[in-house]
Amino acid sequence: MLKGQDLTGKRALITGSTSGIGLAIARAMHAEGAKVILNGFGDADEIAKLTDEMDAVHYDANLLDVAAIEGMMGAAGPVDILVNNAGMQYVSPVEDFPTDKWDAIIALNLTAPFHTSRLAIPAMKEAGWGRIINTASAHSLTASPFKSAYNASKHGIAGFTKTIALELAQTGVTANCISPGYVWTPLIEGQIPDTMEARGLTRDEVINDVLLAKQPTKKFVQPSEIGALAVFLCREEAGNVTGANWSIDGGWTAE
Ligand code: NAD
Repeated sequence: MLKGQDLTGKRALITGSTSGIGLAIARAMHAEGAKVILNGFGDADEIAKLTDEMDAVHYDANLLDVAAIEGMMGAAGPVDILVNNAGMQYVSPVEDFPTDKWDAIIALNLTAPFHTSRLAIPAMKEAGWGRIINTASAHSLTASPFKSAYNASKHGIAGFTKTIALELAQTGVTANCISPGYVWTPLIEGQIPDTMEARGLTRDEVINDVLLAKQPTKKFVQPSEIGALAVFLCREEAGNVTGANWSIDGGWTAE
């Protein structure tokens, strides 16, 4: 059985890794010896602390901008591991859904992973080894009201992942989704006010009756648990795991 540090020598680019789930994945991969490349926004001092902590480089490329993605992927050079994690959410009835929010959610959650993947795959194929991990969501498998763009983008990324897994099946490159249920991160915290307004609920009602209502375990998923799963998908033992959509949702999608 392979033990820790077996990502030594691997270069891992994790989008949206200045916060939440992406940061936890970066920390987990760094702890296993990977050279991590961070991306995302945030306070410059906080990001400097993260690059020091993980001896990492950071690109602030805005993934809504194809030229910025191409610039980041070119500057970063070949990567062994690509984690498409950056994502955003907006909650609104479909008839009122702001069209610019729809476009941005599809661009960040679905189109950006297409661009990073198409740019990373040639070097992975050349090396005969690679791992593409897409942070999808329980909303790649099921839906909730008022999240039309998010649900569409996450169902889309699940289909995209299966497609590239098939295309890459004989190359040593795997592609998988991780689909969390509710994880306590800034993204979840940020959608509470919108859900309160859309459904006319208090903050506690949103947490207990909407968010955790879906999770039979009645616990938020921890970002570190997702980091551990991402590391597993990079291990040699996971070489035959491809095209899969791994739920880590406290049993939500089992119902
Ligand atoms: P978060 O808001 O904590 O982090 C989002 C990250 O993406 C940050 O680093 C941010 O700077 C970066 N980002 C945002 N817009 C960007 C842009 N235009 N260009 C580059 N980077 C950008 O979010 P999180 O909760 O950690 O979510 C990460 C992923 O996990 C998302 O894809 C999300 O849909 C998915 N997810 C989250 C949950 C949850 O409960 N939090 C559940 C299921 C799936």
